[in-house]
Amino acid sequence: MRITEVEAIMLRQPDALDSAIADGSQDALILRLHTDEGITGIGEVDSQPHVIKAIVDAPASHANATGLGALLVGMDPLEIDGVWDRLFAGSIYYGRRGAAVHALSGIEIALWDIAGKAAGKPIHQLLGQVRRDRVKAYASTLMPDTPAEAARVVDRHLSDGFGAVKLGWGPLGRDADSDVELVAASRAAGGDDFDLMIDVGMGWTEPEDAIGRVRRMEEHRPYWVEEPFFPDEYENYARLAEAVDVPIAAGEQEAIATDFQRLLDTGIEVVQPDVTRAGGMRECLRVADLARDRGRRCVLHAWSTGIIKAASLHVLAVMPEAEYFEDCVQTTELNERLVTTRFDLIDGCVEVPRGPGLGIEIDEDVLEECRVKEEG
Ligand SMILES: [Mg+2]
Repeated sequence: MRITEVEAIMLRQPDALDSAIADGSQDALILRLHTDEGITGIGEVDSQPHVIKAIVDAPASHANATGLGALLVGMDPLEIDGVWDRLFAGSIYYGRRGAAVHALSGIEIALWDIAGKAAGKPIHQLLGQVRRDRVKAYASTLMPDTPAEAARVVDRHLSDGFGAVKLGWGPLGRDADSDVELVAASRAAGGDDFDLMIDVGMGWTEPEDAIGRVRRMEEHRPYWVEEPFFPDEYENYARLAEAVDVPIAAGEQEAIATDFQRLLDTGIEVVQPDVTRAGGMRECLRVADLARDRGRRCVLHAWSTGIIKAASLHVLAVMPEAEYFEDCVQTTELNERLVTTRFDLIDGCVEVPRGPGLGIEIDEDVLEECRVKEEG
């Protein structure tokens, strides 16, 4: 089988996009890899759509600075490791990490989709030993502005059947009292029997101040405190993780399993590779192995359309420990409608798709409605 064409499709919700909030489900970059056998693979990249499209569409500058689409055409999509290595090497002048690895991650997902469709099997059956057909889910959404609203959001998602809720970004980081009040109200609204994840969204800067805030939050039992600092502030992560009992989580900005070693060296408890950014599905399994070898936990980050949901669930189906599936509950068009396959909550769990490949269908009407028209 050969790849004949690579489409990088930019999508954007039809109504106004609020670029001031950290909601990446308002736009998306979808990949479609076409083959000479009529099989099309679908992937997604949760990054900056215009940047990723440029990385896919760019012509060759020289052997190590080539657009990924040009490299892909003519390759055998079933040689997934070989394609991955070739694209990594072919983009090494501008890549190695960041956006080029994000693009490569989405391509890797599309390759697995092709492999699954060619074999007539869901991806998880090709990816490793299948360990489960459903994964416990946590509702993942933005922290609203006030404690009263936070309480309402927690209440709503627990009423929907979730046993865990993550609130992140928004006002978190504003000041210590506000941070603690938001966490306290969230816990009080849901009671003792749910897991409450808090995502600071890089809102803190000083480790001593962060230690004080986490200690004040401890009585409200956050399940973890996520991404308190910018990703390169490894020393701050180390100081915080050493000083507090609440698990510290991070890793959605990291790419390539070896970089997660450095993050694990800080002593944090939970690493969070994103299947559309860290290098793809297999790379996330490598990160999980690294974490397990060091007695830590790996919980995938996932925040976008049903494509990333499906890709994450296939990885979680084979990961030895699948603590939680991050279920983005934003009510955006792309999160709720781009993929027609439903990810219904049953007993607090989401089922792993069973159809060939990713096991999902794209709603072509929604895709056309949200497609960003090429400018110039
Ligand atoms: Mg996060």
